[in-house]
Amino acid sequence: MIILKGAEVSARIKDEVSRTAKELGGAVPRLAIVRVGEKPDDISYEKGAKKKMENFGLAWESFVFPGDISHEEFRKEFQKINENSQIDGILLLRPLPRQINEKEIERLIDPAKDLDGISPENIAKVFAGDDTGFAPCTAEAVIQVLKANQIPITGKRVAIVGRSMVVGKPLAMLFVKENATVTICHTKTEDLKGTCRNAQILVAAAGKAKMLDQSYVGDGAAVIDVGINVDENGKLCGDVDFDSIQETASMATPVPGGVGAVTTAVLALHLVQAAARRRG
Ligand code: NDP
Repeated sequence: MIILKGAEVSARIKDEVSRTAKELGGAVPRLAIVRVGEKPDDISYEKGAKKKMENFGLAWESFVFPGDISHEEFRKEFQKINENSQIDGILLLRPLPRQINEKEIERLIDPAKDLDGISPENIAKVFAGDDTGFAPCTAEAVIQVLKANQIPITGKRVAIVGRSMVVGKPLAMLFVKENATVTICHTKTEDLKGTCRNAQILVAAAGKAKMLDQSYVGDGAAVIDVGINVDENGKLCGDVDFDSIQETASMATPVPGGVGAVTTAVLALHLVQAAARRRG
């Protein structure tokens, strides 16, 4: 089984980022990372995003608000970031605390700065197959992994386990745009195993540690593991039981070191694209 390493895909994206950045006449694109509260998952994602921006020669700024900030106060602060002309793109760490109306913030974010595809306008563009917007970074990262490794998508049977708005649903649309035939699976799917086994490309985005073992993987399938979980020993792991699929899958992404590294690279790519579009 071939291991599809995220670092190699990330390096290719870095070249694309550098090419686009050069066309900006010396301006360094600036990312705003917006965090509310001190959730370890958010802090860890923020750390990864900052590291990637620095590695790609891009600028970042963190905006951190207390976990108990009121909706009104946060809305006002968020609007200031939205209108800040020094900021080219925004990454909003979610989910937000319950007192904040997340839907309202999704409607508020400037679609031109919405690098992670949360605004209704960008979501509509993903569903319309219009690539002038920004798709959620993780969903796009899956497609980037396949393309960078020259894995054919056209005409292939794809199964995605997970139907969230962050991964499963937008990813299904990106696959349809690439002419794949897609099945979206979830907790009510009958014969999940059979559906997964029938897929030539299997994407795991359920958020369940090592849930998909060899019995879910068809012979020669390409397996893309989006899941980020902690196993019984406190170690980071994906949704796929990586060791058990070695004889069945033809290739697979590891966790860590797979899709996660590509997600932040796509974020950087979206940032330079946003900066280039803003500067015409
Ligand atoms: P959600 O919890 O929002 O969605 C999980 C989806 O998986 C749901 O649609 C759920 O079905 C489905 N699901 C859960 N358990 C099962 C099961 N036993 N059988 C079939 N379907 C199941 O998660 P996210 O989409 O936000 O994230 C998914 C995973 O990806 C998580 O591990 C997360 O940490 C990771 N992630 C990784 C990123 C990266 O950069 N690599 C970025 C974002 C997320 P139903 O709708 O029926 O409940």
